[in-house]
Amino acid sequence: MIIMVNFEQITNSVWSNTEDETFSHVAFVKLNNCLVFIDSGYYPKVIEKARKEAEKITGLPVKYLIITHHHGDHVLGNQFFEDCQIISTKKTFDILDNLVKTRWSDDNLEKTRKENPKEFDILKVVLPNKSFVGEYEIIDDTLSLKIFQTDGHTSGSCFVYFPEERIIIAGDLLFSEQVPYFGDETTDPYLWLEAYKQMIDLNPVKVIPGHGPMTDIEQVKIQLQYLEDCINWMEDYVKSGRKKEDLDAIIDFPMLDYDKYDDFDEFFKLSKDRTYDVVKEKHKH
Ligand SMILES: [Zn+2]
Repeated sequence: MIIMVNFEQITNSVWSNTEDETFSHVAFVKLNNCLVFIDSGYYPKVIEKARKEAEKITGLPVKYLIITHHHGDHVLGNQFFEDCQIISTKKTFDILDNLVKTRWSDDNLEKTRKENPKEFDILKVVLPNKSFVGEYEIIDDTLSLKIFQTDGHTSGSCFVYFPEERIIIAGDLLFSEQVPYFGDETTDPYLWLEAYKQMIDLNPVKVIPGHGPMTDIEQVKIQLQYLEDCINWMEDYVKSGRKKEDLDAIIDFPMLDYDKYDDFDEFFKLSKDRTYDVVKEKHKH
């Protein structure tokens, strides 16, 4: 099996893969003396290759890995960064720490290794070794990289900003040219809106999304409007006393005119249901 990762140079110091080899995108930023890798993708063997490729392209070692949130397609390559500082928010750490005792227990991982040996025979879950609350900054001589915790897509979600070149690496706070997934049991669309506003205030020249094509702030504005539409729709629905069970049959819930991803119907149902729960909770008296 030939394992390939194609990194595209986005700016002078930032690279990202733009296809689906890692399922969600991974990126890296070149600072003065080292690389910072962002997210570790889904398929372990591909990530092993990706790290080597990044170090080959730049001639610099990876010293940090930032995990934008806890979803499997962003963390399952962590085992290849055990010599690095692996950074996440405290909330993301806590969720991952719980997952290794439940869904990702040794028994369950063993099952996955056996069922999908081609992709996952070396599967192992490694936790972050550095966590923070709010903001974090990596400084390397004259350059720095900032991490902002916003929550939103998940409890603990954060995005990365490289001020020198005004690039945002959004993780799944941005699904580019796709309907976002907002069905995690910790998704908060209200906080997600605030994350978009914070990104817009930074006025980045480019935004690297967690999924979908490379993009810019115009796509963030489209997604901001979309989430606002979803919240407004659901606030009306909840205020009129309609029931969660009846959401399945609803056909006028807001929708973006983009291609649908795998298992869209299932994920979109989760998204609608979660929005209902959050809106209901917010408006209960
Ligand atoms: Zn995600």
